[in-house]
Amino acid sequence: MTASLAIGVDVGATKIAAILADRSGHVLAEERALTGAAEGVAAVVSRIAAAVQALQRAAPAPIAGVGVGIPGYVDAAQGIVRNAVNLGWQEVDLAARLRHEVRLDVWAGNDANVLALGEYYYGAAQSCANFAYIAIGSGLGSGIVLDGRLVIGATYAAAELGHLSLDPAGRLCACGLRGCVETVVSGPGILATAREHLARGERSALRDTAGLTPENVLDAALARDPLAVAVFDETAAWLGMVFAVCAVMLNPERIVIGGGLGRAAFDLLVPGALAELSRRVVPQSCAHLQVTPSQVTAGAVGASSLVWQAERG
Ligand SMILES: [Zn+2]
Repeated sequence: MTASLAIGVDVGATKIAAILADRSGHVLAEERALTGAAEGVAAVVSRIAAAVQALQRAAPAPIAGVGVGIPGYVDAAQGIVRNAVNLGWQEVDLAARLRHEVRLDVWAGNDANVLALGEYYYGAAQSCANFAYIAIGSGLGSGIVLDGRLVIGATYAAAELGHLSLDPAGRLCACGLRGCVETVVSGPGILATAREHLARGERSALRDTAGLTPENVLDAALARDPLAVAVFDETAAWLGMVFAVCAVMLNPERIVIGGGLGRAAFDLLVPGALAELSRRVVPQSCAHLQVTPSQVTAGAVGASSLVWQAERG
């Protein structure tokens, strides 16, 4: 009998979320724990295992395996986390260690990549085998699915669009480069751009206080505040450059926009990004490109789709 359920685990810098899902991505049960990365790899792996085992006990049907999303560079073929800065992990053979504890097949992938794959199996890219996924939130994450499979890259760094520098003289990024996409197309990026506009004395209902948030700028833009609209127009143009990179490299059928900010600001960003795209690539590269909001918002749900990808062989 073919197993109908999968477990997905999202390992974040602070929290572990684990879910039991069916083949449609419907969540049947969930478990949460604190990551506690400072306690070391073994402690984190045993907390992941405990969450998985609790879901195994709750499962009403056979489980096909476990997919784990990790914020870092993951050798998906071997199930080895090569480098995850936020967890302090290097060369952790996560799949093998977890498989040993839970007695299920285990696959691992980068957290943004597994959200992309989740859109293919459960969300906005079902029946679309070639697409790019861009999540805009506290940073910018991305994933590429070609022929229905995630693209991982030679050194596990495919689809690292967030750290493409668009302006080598721009803002300093956490990665050490300047002007990365993530320094402009992200919550902190939007806030920084708004502060630059405010410093120029432009007319706005916004004030540059310590409590100003990206959500304030978004709300102001939705209320047609001129400064906030200008901030989103500028951000949309940067996003359009990212679209252009995707279009010339992949000629995708679709670009799926995820992340809390990406979904909330979809209508503020996408028209301007498409206009910028049309100025930067020939029509052949983007004539039928569709841009849609994501439907899978939980990293753990995305991670569970690794099981279905593996099943296809
Ligand atoms: Zn960077």
